[in-house]
Amino acid sequence: MTPGERAEARIAELGISDPRDIDVDAIAFDARMLVEYEALEGCEAMLVGAGDRAIATIRPSSVRGRERFSVGHELGHWELHRGKSFACRADDPDRNLTSDKPREREADEYSAHLLMPAVFFGPAVKALGKPGFKELDGLSNDYETSLLATAIRLADIDTLPVIVACYSAQGLKWSKPAKHVPRRWWLRSRLDDDSFAHGLLTAGTRVASARKQPGEVWFENDDAENYEVTEECIPGKAGEVLVLLYLSSPMLDARFDPNVGIRRYNESGSYTKRR
Ligand SMILES: [Zn+2]
Repeated sequence: MTPGERAEARIAELGISDPRDIDVDAIAFDARMLVEYEALEGCEAMLVGAGDRAIATIRPSSVRGRERFSVGHELGHWELHRGKSFACRADDPDRNLTSDKPREREADEYSAHLLMPAVFFGPAVKALGKPGFKELDGLSNDYETSLLATAIRLADIDTLPVIVACYSAQGLKWSKPAKHVPRRWWLRSRLDDDSFAHGLLTAGTRVASARKQPGEVWFENDDAENYEVTEECIPGKAGEVLVLLYLSSPMLDARFDPNVGIRRYNESGSYTKRR
């Protein structure tokens, strides 16, 4: 079973049939992991286990969703990596997205599935059509999760052609595409001047809702100009913007294209420099 399947099996075992009943501290207690909320230095959550019992210490946050994600993350370590102790920076899942530490990513996966099990979260997303940030905010209230964790989970459940991405003035920090989005689509490494995200980041200009954009604003691919995407953005952490991109359906059927910006795919699918 994957970490996510383990978490969802736990929800099923406990007979939880409503997301509002996902009491993460109680689920942890049931697994003999006691949760304490205390200031920590140098990390946001910590797990110390001995025998069949563990104590998770969580740094208090004004956002309950972040605390809950941390508890789920430590419970993931407890269930998946027993016998080890952890000091984590784990209250939001973006730090680990770019990390090469598989255990941290597994604990995040466990937490995301525990708090937003596909059995509830999938139908909730389906009922919203193509949710924007306003709808995701509603979902994050229902699931008591952070908006960031909810947006990443939206891409993760892989039912919509969506990419969640985070940019700063230095460029792309991380991105989370739905799995079925073709890998040929290569996000720009720096924000295009014509993107709403650029306006938001540099001038604080907010665009109220999702709007259409030519594909080349967002993708480096030579043929991106033939396609359209829908862009919505909101302020992220200080100096960052969080972007929600929906790809139009022809983009999902676009054929393999070796030419992407300054790179070119070779036959085995690796990038080489374009001559
Ligand atoms: Zn961790």
